[in-house]
Amino acid sequence: MIDKGFVPDYFIEIPKKLNDLKIQKLNSSSGTIVANGTDIYVQFADQLSEENINLIGEESSLKGITFSDKICTIGASTTVTELLENDKLQNIFPKLNSFLKLVSSQQIRNMGTLGGNFVNASPIGDMSIFFLALNSTLRIKNKNGTTREISFQKFHQDYKKFDLKEGELINSVSFLIPDKNTYFNFEKVSKRSYLDIASVNTAIRINIKNNRINNAYFSLGGIAAIPKFLTKTNDFLNGKIIDIKTIKQAEKILQSEISPISDVRGTSSYKRLLAKQLFFAHFIELFPKKIKFQNLFS
Ligand SMILES: Cc1cc2nc3c(=O)[nH]c(=O)nc-3n(C[C@H](O)[C@H](O)[C@H](O)COP(=O)(O)OP(=O)(O)OC[C@H]3O[C@@H](n4cnc5c(N)ncnc54)[C@H](O)[C@@H]3O)c2cc1C
Repeated sequence: MIDKGFVPDYFIEIPKKLNDLKIQKLNSSSGTIVANGTDIYVQFADQLSEENINLIGEESSLKGITFSDKICTIGASTTVTELLENDKLQNIFPKLNSFLKLVSSQQIRNMGTLGGNFVNASPIGDMSIFFLALNSTLRIKNKNGTTREISFQKFHQDYKKFDLKEGELINSVSFLIPDKNTYFNFEKVSKRSYLDIASVNTAIRINIKNNRINNAYFSLGGIAAIPKFLTKTNDFLNGKIIDIKTIKQAEKILQSEISPISDVRGTSSYKRLLAKQLFFAHFIELFPKKIKFQNLFS
């Protein structure tokens, strides 16, 4: 590249300059946690240049995707691209590529981690919405290496407030691997198709037994101060026959559970409309023979 004149001569010194930075010395376990920095450096680059930082993006104990008999566990520093590159996850979620192609851009997917997405605590964090609907469990680790587990539903408490104490970090997220009677879908509406955060995003995991909903976990982003797990709607769905009447009644409960505000992503009423359309879209997508578009909207 240098000899052909594509890049200037000083590029030859860059590997040595990077080496001389002595990354290990900059990294301090008591510093501000940075996974891969796609979020925190956008917001606080100047401040962070003056602070100690604790780089966890490459920490091996926070990486990796493992499967036991029924549980999948994913390290918090796993990137979105690493999810996409995992064959077993692709088998579990055959539509994973289409779900995740709307998440940021290739470059950000290569860097952005699950832990970073959960802790930046955006009400429209795509990975938060995805793993909430999986009814996931978070493993949280403190400085002494002691761990505790909490349901992801309980993690986000209020706008940018979450259940992490001083010195704690998210170690991993795990979920029950869907069986053959369990269906999953993710939907996102944003102003642009690529490289855009959502106006509203949503996911659902639903288990069906003898034409009845055995359990449903439905999450919705952009309609409250936190990525929202719709407890009342989910409770209503449980045990019901899966049909148009049930879905229409559940949508009314959904509307009572959300409190969207008007902002640059859309007006409050637009987000309520999106919440309705996307809730219906899950069922049309997952049960096309049973749930028809025209019947839901008639
Ligand atoms: C151009 C662009 C487009 C984007 N598009 C989207 C999008 O479409 N959808 C979307 O959801 N997001 C989007 N984002 C936001 C962001 O990049 C992602 O949420 C990403 O997952 C953050 O991961 P990270 O590793 O870079 O986090 P970092 O920036 O390293 O960290 C973010 C926060 O999380 C904390 N943190 C990180 N890991 C842990 C951990 N394990 N335990 C405790 N705290 C931790 C950090 O201290 C920091 O406060 C976008 C960002 C950019 C710059």
